[in-house]
Amino acid sequence: METIRHPLLESTERGLYCPIGDFYIDPRRPVERAVVTHAHTDHARWGCKQYLSAKEGEHLLRMRMSPDAQFDFLPYGKQVTHHGVRVSFHPAGHILGSAQVRLEYRGQIAVVAGDYKLGPDPTCESWEPVPCDLFVTESTFALPVYRWQDQDEIFASINRWWRRSADEGKCCLLYGYAVGKSQRLLAGLEPSIGPIYTHGAVEKGVQAYRASGVHLPMTTYVGEVKQKADFAGAMVVAVPSAHGTPWMRRFGNVSAAMASGWMMIRGTRRRRAADRGFVLSDHVDWTTTLKAIELCNPQQVWVHHGYSAILARYLNSIGRTAIALDQTGRRDDSEDDEGKDSVQEATE
Ligand SMILES: [Zn+2]
Ligand SMILES: [Zn+2]
Repeated sequence: METIRHPLLESTERGLYCPIGDFYIDPRRPVERAVVTHAHTDHARWGCKQYLSAKEGEHLLRMRMSPDAQFDFLPYGKQVTHHGVRVSFHPAGHILGSAQVRLEYRGQIAVVAGDYKLGPDPTCESWEPVPCDLFVTESTFALPVYRWQDQDEIFASINRWWRRSADEGKCCLLYGYAVGKSQRLLAGLEPSIGPIYTHGAVEKGVQAYRASGVHLPMTTYVGEVKQKADFAGAMVVAVPSAHGTPWMRRFGNVSAAMASGWMMIRGTRRRRAADRGFVLSDHVDWTTTLKAIELCNPQQVWVHHGYSAILARYLNSIGRTAIALDQTGRRDDSEDDEGKDSVQEATE
C-alpha cells in the first residue's frame, strides 16, 4: 500500500498516523498510543497501550473495552499538546461521545472526522464544522442514491407501524445495531403506545447512555421477563442477528423491521428477511458529506471507509483536491462493525 502523506498525517497499514505526535487515530492494530473517535469496534480496538478519547464517550468506551485499558479522556473543545501537536475533540454527531479529532501544528490543521452525521439526534451532540487544511472523511454512504429523510418523518412512520401492529395484537421487533442506533431508536419511540423491551446487547448500551445523562424512555430488559409473558402490543428493540433465532419465539405473533441506512436498497431489505425496513442512518449521506466538506473548506480531502474512490473522483471533478485512502469496495450489508458485534451478542 502506498503511503499518503501530509505534514500532520500519514496513511499506514496500521491506520492514520501522526508522525510528529507519534500516535495513531483509530488504529487497525494494537499500537502504543491510540486516539479513538468513538466506541464502535472498528474504531476502538483492543490491545493498545494507551488511549485518548472524548470524555463524553467514557461510559460507552469503558463498556466496550477491556477493563484494564489505559484511558485518558478529554472533554469536547479542550486541547492537550503531545510532542508539540495540539489535539482536541469536537462533536461528530454519530453516536454518544463520537468525536472528530483536530490536530494543529505550526499553523497546519488536520481534522479526522471519524464516523459522523449532520442533523439532530437526541442521543448525542450535533456535528460541528471544524475549519481545517486537511479533512479526513468517511464515505460509508457516499453515493448519490443515499439521501436521508428527515428523522422526524422516520420516527413518525416507525410509531405508526407500532400502533397498527399493536392494534392487530402483534409484538413489534425493531432491529438496530447494539450501540448507537438502538438507543437513537428508543429515543424516537412513543412510549404511550405500549411497553418497550430491550435485547441484552441493546440493554448494555442503554445503561451506558443513561449513565452518561441521555434521557431514554422506560424500558424492560427481556432477560428479566418470565418466559410466558404476553408481548402483544409491545415493542422490542433488538440487534439484527437475533432475527430468526430461538430468542424471538417468546414474542408470539411478531412484525419485524430493520432500521439502517442500508434499508434504502431493496435487496438488502429482502436479505434481512424483516417485514419492513426504515431508512435511518448515523452516517452522512451524499448531500451532507458534500455540505460538511464545504463548511470545513479544506485544501485537501482524504476519503476512506466506504465508497472512497467514487467520492474522491467526484470531489476532484468539482475542483477540490481529494485522495482515496483505500480502494476497497463497499461491504453492503453492515454499518460499521456493528453487524459483527451483534453476531457475538445474539444470545441475550
Ligand atoms: Zn461508527
Ligand atoms: Zn465506522
